[in-house]
Amino acid sequence: MDYRNDIGYRKETLKKLLFNIQKSEDLIVKALYDDFKKPAFEAVLTETNYVISELKDTIKNIYSWAKPQRIIPSILNFPSTDYIYKEPYGKVLILAPWNYPFQLALCPLISAVAAGNKVILKPSELTPKTAEIITEIIQKTFHINHVEVVQGGADIAQKLLEKRWDYIFFTGSVAVGKIVAKAAAENLTPVTLELGGKNPCIIDETANLKLAAKRIVWGKFINAGQTCIAPDYILIHKNMKVHFIGYLKDEINKAYGQNPQESPDFARIINTKNWVRLDSMIEPNKVIFGGQTDAKNLYVAPTLIDEPNIESNIMQEEIFGPLLPILTYKTEADIKNIIDQYEKPLALYVFSENQHFAKKIITRYSFGGGCINDTVVHFSNKRLPFGGVGHSGLGAYHGKLSFDTFSHHKGIVKKANWLDLPMRYAPYKDKLAAIKKLLDWI
Ligand code: NAD
Repeated sequence: MDYRNDIGYRKETLKKLLFNIQKSEDLIVKALYDDFKKPAFEAVLTETNYVISELKDTIKNIYSWAKPQRIIPSILNFPSTDYIYKEPYGKVLILAPWNYPFQLALCPLISAVAAGNKVILKPSELTPKTAEIITEIIQKTFHINHVEVVQGGADIAQKLLEKRWDYIFFTGSVAVGKIVAKAAAENLTPVTLELGGKNPCIIDETANLKLAAKRIVWGKFINAGQTCIAPDYILIHKNMKVHFIGYLKDEINKAYGQNPQESPDFARIINTKNWVRLDSMIEPNKVIFGGQTDAKNLYVAPTLIDEPNIESNIMQEEIFGPLLPILTYKTEADIKNIIDQYEKPLALYVFSENQHFAKKIITRYSFGGGCINDTVVHFSNKRLPFGGVGHSGLGAYHGKLSFDTFSHHKGIVKKANWLDLPMRYAPYKDKLAAIKKLLDWI
């Protein structure tokens, strides 16, 4: 078992992982349902299928991603050939969240293994059924000295963080992200922090409102709003609000029926703590649609909230649930006033037929990533980096970038011996003018 140096071995274990995941797909989907009634369609689309596709892509490309990359050499080193070698970091710790508990645990694991690392994975304690099936799959696939799952909550995570790692990959809240960053700093361990934030969704006067409503309802209420890149709040031009709310209501009814609690396509809130947090965000006099909650079933209806006060609970933190506040603007300065109240978000969405406006919004504000005229789907393109900026995260991954994330990039100059220009060597007498001329020239 030489996972560090033997790319063939890494590829074989990933193939075995693919086989074991495909074989257990039904059990994974069931575990996700048992944990928080994640609908099977969403479980396949956003969890199992996503992981399978990432695995296939990695298996296909592992040799080309791992091989030393030839780089244009510097004329200063003539004659040389230059390379970037991809070196595994060593021991990697992955801490995963509960909202996409299979995908967000497995995707970083796949890349960490592909890049030649030893991995310890701690899945979320809030999705115990999924954690259990992950453990079974990993135990069946990998040697324990190569990849191991450690189950447990915050206390176990903190014990793991006390150890020395060569890389830490964390997905979760901003508050815990700071704890992880502090622990990593002790040993100068590099980290990726995949965090969250308040993601604005801006809609101008030119937007196709009907289509925007459909795409926003999908992106907001998938996984019952418990998605790090779900639109957090709407910021719509004042003239379009009434019209747009009509479309939103239609789309929610079409997707989940008159009583979403009976819909098989609408997930539940993960636990009582989060249910209470969301329930307390609902101010009944601001609700214009939905608003029903049921503590026993951890249910919160898809809910539209009209112009909440910016000081209110719902506008003070990441919502992470099926509540959608609708704010309005008249001028671009109003948009700026609202967005500037918050830390840099993980995602931003703009709906507009005016390309100039859309481009201005995308370039004016700093955020992890996003879409023009859609929500959430930027996540699905493996060729796009996925990650936050500022408080929404540090680093990015997906596709080849994930492999690169878990590899140290070692720069190597391979010098030829058939020529050795004397210019750089002491004594420097009379060489300064010539070297200046050369540096100016190149
Ligand atoms: P969390 O921060 O509570 O937990 C994440 C992981 O950290 C879990 O494994 C947990 O056991 C561990 N943990 C919890 N408390 C800890 C502590 N005090 N010390 C050390 N480890 C601790 O996050 P969560 O509730 O599981 O997930 C929700 C958050 O994650 C949201 O803020 C969401 O935006 C964010 N998120 C981000 C992404 C992304 O890709 N950027 C994806 C999903 C979720």
